[in-house]
Amino acid sequence: MPHMSARPLLEVRNLGLDFGSPRGRVHALRNVSLDVPAGQVVGIVGESGSGKSTLAYTVMGLLPENAQVTAGSIIFERRDLLTLTAQTRRSLMGDRLSMIFQDPMTALNPVRNIESQMIDIQHHEQRGRSEKRDRAVDMLKRVGIPDPQSRIGNYPHQFSGGMRQRICIAMALLVKPALLIADEPTTALDATLEVQIIHLLKDLQREIGCSILFVSHHLGVVAELCDHVAVMYAGEVVEQGAVRDIFHSPGHPYTRALLECDPGRIKQRTRNLPTIPGEVPSLLASKKGCIFHPRCPHAFDRCVHETPGEYRVAADQVARCHLLDRAGMVAA
Ligand code: ATP
Ligand code: SF4
Repeated sequence: MPHMSARPLLEVRNLGLDFGSPRGRVHALRNVSLDVPAGQVVGIVGESGSGKSTLAYTVMGLLPENAQVTAGSIIFERRDLLTLTAQTRRSLMGDRLSMIFQDPMTALNPVRNIESQMIDIQHHEQRGRSEKRDRAVDMLKRVGIPDPQSRIGNYPHQFSGGMRQRICIAMALLVKPALLIADEPTTALDATLEVQIIHLLKDLQREIGCSILFVSHHLGVVAELCDHVAVMYAGEVVEQGAVRDIFHSPGHPYTRALLECDPGRIKQRTRNLPTIPGEVPSLLASKKGCIFHPRCPHAFDRCVHETPGEYRVAADQVARCHLLDRAGMVAA
């Protein structure tokens, strides 16, 4: 794990999760460890199917019935979330923990106006209804909803997609959570709106002092918003650390490949964006060796037989690759 002095707000340790499927057990998370320090933004990146959303939903406790946690712990504010009762878990949601989804309609009720939804979300607060309404109006103003005094009475369908996502951010932050989990919140928006929403999130995060766990496949957005980043591949975290270290000197061949294929970094105009050759492996079988070896241009014998341990690449950067052992880096 990256070196941190104070105890992180969230500590995911050796987490394993399977989905039951007609074809067998899908090992969607394998031995995942990750820290979210207090007041920091941690990004999770990786190709589609790498387990980013599954990790976010597991922390939030929003898993489908066919999911089973097979190993590990999720320590949040010194309690293991996996051992809490369903009722305690629910009471943490919308109080210490809140979430923004890719599709704002997942969080909004289409048949109730914004006012009643924003008042309800403050149910943990000992305040009167009119004070809660005032706070809601303030927050809508803060996220850039014009004329919030009257628009608070509107229904979700009366807002554009970008406005709806702003409303969801307002609702998620109204409760002043310690940790906000955001699952691709800007993916459905156009590029200009995406930039606006990212700046808004960053400002509000600083103001409230919360941490954010931010899932995205958009590396530019992660570079802009996040302090730390975890790179996932086929259910494993293969590299993590400070954004500047990982983006400037990635230690893992997969991270390098991901960065080389990022459209934001490609200088020449091209019709054919590069992709990482090969496919993400099936998650059905148990894996031996390095999970990336079938696609890795540097793979050697040891990669096929032995799972790589974690090596320290920089003070706040670790990666799982046998090449780092060869280069004399110390085990983390
Ligand atoms: P994307 O960027 O496409 O959202 P992701 O990195 O978030 O991808 P996940 O959605 O977490 O990836 O999926 C991880 C793996 O778990 C995939 O192989 C996916 O097919 C599988 N999976 C996810 N949800 C379920 C489910 N409910 N039942 C069975 N398998 C699932
Ligand atoms: Fe490539 Fe081997 Fe490193 Fe895996 S352990 S990333 S296969 S060099």
